[in-house]
Amino acid sequence: MGSNKNLFINVIPAGILLAIIFIAFGVFVNTNKQRIITQNTEYVEEAALQKAKRIDDVLLSAQNSLEVIASLYGDIMDNSEIDFEMLNQLAEKAPFDYIDFVNAEGWDINGDGRRIDVLDRAYFRDGIQGNSGMNIVFDSRIADENFVVFYQPLRYKGKVIGLLTGHYREKQMKDIITTVYFGEQASTFLCLSDGRVVSGSTPFGEPENLLESLQCTEYISEETYNAFSEAIQNKESNSFIYQGKNGYCITCVTKLPGNDWMLVQTFPAAVTSKMLSNASAAGIQLEVELILLFVVCVVFLMLRSRKQRMRLLSEKTKELGYMEWLFSVLTQNTDDVFILFSPKTFRADYISPNLERILGVDREVIAADARKMLLASGDNKATFTQENFASVKENSTWQTDREVRHCKTGERRWYKEHLYHVNIQGEERFLLTLSDRTVERQMNEALNNALEAANIANQAKSNFLSNMSHDIRTPMNAIVGFAMLLEKEADKPDKVRLYTQKIVASGHHLMNLINDVLDMSKIESGKTTLNIAEFSMAELLEELEDIIQPEARAKEHTMEIRVQGEIPEMLLGDKLRINQMLLNLLSNAVKYTPKGGKIEFLVQRLERASVSPVCLRFVVKDNGIGISEEFLKTIFDPFAREINSVTNTIQGTGLGMAITKNIVDLMGGTITVKSQPGRGSTFIVELELAVPKQSSDGQPESVRAAHGEEAAEEEKVCPSFSDRPLEGMLILAAEDNDLNAEIVSEMLIMLGAKCERAINGMEALELFKESEAGHYSMILMDIQMPVMNGYEATKSIRSCGHQDAEKIPIIAMTANAFAEDVKNALEAGMNDHISKPVDVSVLRDTLEKWKA
Ligand code: ADP
Repeated sequence: MGSNKNLFINVIPAGILLAIIFIAFGVFVNTNKQRIITQNTEYVEEAALQKAKRIDDVLLSAQNSLEVIASLYGDIMDNSEIDFEMLNQLAEKAPFDYIDFVNAEGWDINGDGRRIDVLDRAYFRDGIQGNSGMNIVFDSRIADENFVVFYQPLRYKGKVIGLLTGHYREKQMKDIITTVYFGEQASTFLCLSDGRVVSGSTPFGEPENLLESLQCTEYISEETYNAFSEAIQNKESNSFIYQGKNGYCITCVTKLPGNDWMLVQTFPAAVTSKMLSNASAAGIQLEVELILLFVVCVVFLMLRSRKQRMRLLSEKTKELGYMEWLFSVLTQNTDDVFILFSPKTFRADYISPNLERILGVDREVIAADARKMLLASGDNKATFTQENFASVKENSTWQTDREVRHCKTGERRWYKEHLYHVNIQGEERFLLTLSDRTVERQMNEALNNALEAANIANQAKSNFLSNMSHDIRTPMNAIVGFAMLLEKEADKPDKVRLYTQKIVASGHHLMNLINDVLDMSKIESGKTTLNIAEFSMAELLEELEDIIQPEARAKEHTMEIRVQGEIPEMLLGDKLRINQMLLNLLSNAVKYTPKGGKIEFLVQRLERASVSPVCLRFVVKDNGIGISEEFLKTIFDPFAREINSVTNTIQGTGLGMAITKNIVDLMGGTITVKSQPGRGSTFIVELELAVPKQSSDGQPESVRAAHGEEAAEEEKVCPSFSDRPLEGMLILAAEDNDLNAEIVSEMLIMLGAKCERAINGMEALELFKESEAGHYSMILMDIQMPVMNGYEATKSIRSCGHQDAEKIPIIAMTANAFAEDVKNALEAGMNDHISKPVDVSVLRDTLEKWKA
């Protein structure tokens, strides 16, 4: 299409130029023709005029000669008899063919004695009157031809005795009028005004009457003829041009100046034709030269344009090659697939080289039918449906997102598909592109998840703050309220004891809440790690029993603890966490069972062949208030507490179950709960615990024996401040907080000991180093202190070289109350750990334990 357009653009100007050359040539030839004809016309007019004058001169001269001869002869005549010999001698030099004598009787007599009667001739009648002149004699009696007769009266002794006649015969006349132009004889006629020809000189025969002859000529138009005959008849000069047999005839009519004869002369058509053809030849030559020049120019321009086109083409090809290379490299290194195909045949014009790599489909298959993309991808969701094609109008786009399976690897990835309907130089095409959006989609999903998580976290934070606000304010209210009442009722011991007990209870509740919250947040932030160590299950159960039994008894519950199956004496696990988890379940069972209920605690070994470690099931069952089906769904959510008339009267944080669930998850176990409102609840925890190598044989009997139904129940002795178990001991207490220092000092004094305070770890170290051996019985060490913390102080004390450095008991007394904190304290060289707020009985027991 483009090349045709170029062709038109190039050919049209060339055609126009060529036409201009031809027209110019036509104009040139025509102008030349007109010029030549005009020039020849002028030429023949002038020549004819000159010729007429000359003929006139010749005729006049002939007339004069005859007059001279007649005069001379008349002078020398001695009688009236004509001496032809003398006459001939006189006439020898005369221009006539011959000279005759016509006597007065009208007899034309010559030297040979021939006599012809000319009495009727006009010239005789005029001449005998004594006039001279010239006349034409048509069809002479002397010879069968026309004669021009000059006549002159011959006088003898003053009397006209006859005429002398000089004759111009046809041939002589012909010689006179004959005219040659450029080597070609012109047709020349002397004629009378009626058209009769006096003499004619033509290359072909002469007519008798010119007008009659011309009337019959087919070459002369009627108009020309009329003008011609008019000129001859009126004896006027004129010129005529007409197309004759041999070309342009330019005929000039002019009158002889001395008589009425008309000279008609035609410029030779051959000469005009020759001149025209010469001019044409020059024109043709010029035209040919111009055409040649034109052709040369066209060829030059074509060659130049071709060269430019070739250069352009080569540049374009180079550029195209480069683009193709670039495109190929780009497509090879990107995960976008391109397919250009015809919407009619579905044959692909272009397929990006990465097709096989990205989708694993056979290039040849797609090249033959681009619709196979759908089948090749193994996806049933139609991309190439008739509707799609119909809906994609020209210059518009259709797009979709879909999951495409890699034909070879089976990997599924998300692609954004575009179908563009384009028109490439009049050709309708569809361009299908597949852009890998898997990462983007995954990122979006991750972002959405993160957003959701952030929203949930935000919600959780709001819930947490609101719960915390409520749960902290409640015991705080009690503490502050009873403290105020205490101040007012300080002089009433019963009230003081009652308020103090309530303040302590609220304080404990607050403490539990804080511990749970901190524990919970620590577990949730993933900072909690299990402290796996060897422990005795029997011991653990004993400790549990020690804690839970008093609570159960206080509510008059029957408590049943059973062990089923052979459980190794020693197991590997985080004893503290297992303890915490079971305690949560057991204390809930006690809490949420109305007075006089039944609590069952079963520890069961599950026999699972496939499981190498010991699989234990803990079942905590009560016949308490139970849990609604609805609440069961959220029972493990932090701060979740069922709202009903019973739970409202029971203190709790709603964190116990969440912590329990987290601990079980941390240990890789499971927890399930079955419950019906009013019919009690059963919590089942299943854990897998490894067995330490040295104790792999286990001592199940002892565990069972210790926790059987018959196991002895030991009542716990309540702490008493009356006895002074630490009498005589001097305790060094490192404590930066004055209030805490005062509390511990008071407690120690209460227990019978003395206390010396150091305000930080460094001072404790100094005091210890300066002391004599055995001066301090024990050191109570806070952990977070300025200048030197408890860990560093302990390490320094243990390595300071004092006599008691290695043996003096150092006991952590700190608000860092997590299991890790206990572990860290022991690792730093301390002997034991007491968490704040300090329970006086715990303090007493611990100090008694380490008393020398
Ligand atoms: P709380 O400090 O309130 O006891 P938990 O997380 O330990 O918090 O328990 C969450 C809630 O689950 C309790 O408030 C109670 O409604 C319900 N719940 C837990 N254990 C029992 C049980 N043995 N019987 C009835 N309800 C229970």
